[in-house]
Amino acid sequence: MTITNQIDVSEKSKKWHERRNEAVPRGPYNITSVYAEYGRGAIIKDVDGNAYIDFAGGIGVQNVGHCHPKVVQAVKEQAEKLIHPCFHVTPYDSYVELAEQLNELTPGDFKKKTMFANSGAEAVENAVKIARKYTGKSGILSFERGYHGRTLLTMSLTSKVKPYKHGFGPFAPSVYKLPYPYYYRAPEGMTKDQMDEVLLQSIRDFFINTASADEVGAVILEPIQGEGGFIVPSKTFVKGLKEICEENDILFIADEIQTGFARTGKWFAIENFEVEPDIITMSKSIAAGMPLSAITGRAEIMDASLPGQLGGTFGGSPISCKAGLAVIDIIKDEKLIERARVIGKRMNHFFTELKEQIPLIGDVRGIGAMQAIELVKDQKTKEPAKEETAEIVAECNKQGLLTLSAGIYGNVLRFLPPLVIKHDELEAGLETLRNVIERTYRKYL
Ligand code: PMP
Repeated sequence: MTITNQIDVSEKSKKWHERRNEAVPRGPYNITSVYAEYGRGAIIKDVDGNAYIDFAGGIGVQNVGHCHPKVVQAVKEQAEKLIHPCFHVTPYDSYVELAEQLNELTPGDFKKKTMFANSGAEAVENAVKIARKYTGKSGILSFERGYHGRTLLTMSLTSKVKPYKHGFGPFAPSVYKLPYPYYYRAPEGMTKDQMDEVLLQSIRDFFINTASADEVGAVILEPIQGEGGFIVPSKTFVKGLKEICEENDILFIADEIQTGFARTGKWFAIENFEVEPDIITMSKSIAAGMPLSAITGRAEIMDASLPGQLGGTFGGSPISCKAGLAVIDIIKDEKLIERARVIGKRMNHFFTELKEQIPLIGDVRGIGAMQAIELVKDQKTKEPAKEETAEIVAECNKQGLLTLSAGIYGNVLRFLPPLVIKHDELEAGLETLRNVIERTYRKYL
């Protein structure tokens, strides 16, 4: 796969973008202004016929690749039969079957139940409702740099102020932020173990200083922070947090919306930390692009809400559930969990080597095929290289590679390629990155 040519033919995209700017507000942002028309595997083609290697995967949606034939077939077959009777009116088999499968796949050797919604934010909203109903406690703890969505409650749980929250207050009450380890930016001289100890102690102190544990129903944690910049906590921290939850009858919700579904070389990222959450939220890659999210949890927790207290018109539509069942088959058949580890190892090795050559790269991190690099103006001061990061994303786009930035300082390049990406596509994408990062570094020297 060689997509090395500079993309300069974008007449149709330009026209669509002019029309977009007239018809659509700027709030729903676009990372690129190329208009997608076709996708297969890890390749997207735009309306002008330009091809792109996709390291964004629709922001972690396309783990099984764009338009996987089995997903397309499942969607087509279901659309021919029945599009939407609404689960609350006349239920159907695919909802139940997918729930059964997720109850099995999610970590924890205890009885679980699953319900479906449409988006990540809706999954988080429901997880919080379910946790409050079960515990009778309204307080919810989330983390600095965390991201959970754009609805009022999930925006309140989210940490980054600009752009996500700015001007949209007041926010939902009884929501508090805890510190989440960021070892790369630890105070000078502080070890990883020390940071874990300090943060876990500050969480214990939180119950004295800010909100009493008997008023807190749940903690919601991204096992690896996604929008926050692919920040990986230690096993000690995550296990320590779970212990604190157990000591205080606080539910542990793992938000696996970005980390889930084979991405990190396990079905769920939380398995890397050997912690069994009480509730897991899933979305994005779960149905390969059909709108679907899931909330899976301990049966007794999930059953605390009474009939009619949970749900929604479109949640778990038959087409989405069929796509979800196809996704699980594909991950198993094509050994995508193993493939995620191979991709991750290759990316990590590539960037670790590149970091030695290009000081713009300050940190390389991730688990499995959820890898990122943090760009800094100076490896010592670690001053975030925000403009450089934005330029690299834009230049990669011109060179036929779709990438994403992340992080509270906007200086992290994160990679979420489809796990079906072919070897030569992955290598070509990495080569483009090498060239663009190198050129950007020299420009700012
Ligand atoms: N939680 C996490 C961890 C996410 O990454 C996202 C989306 N980036 C969400 C929740 C919200 O999902 P959605 O955009 O589907 O509402």
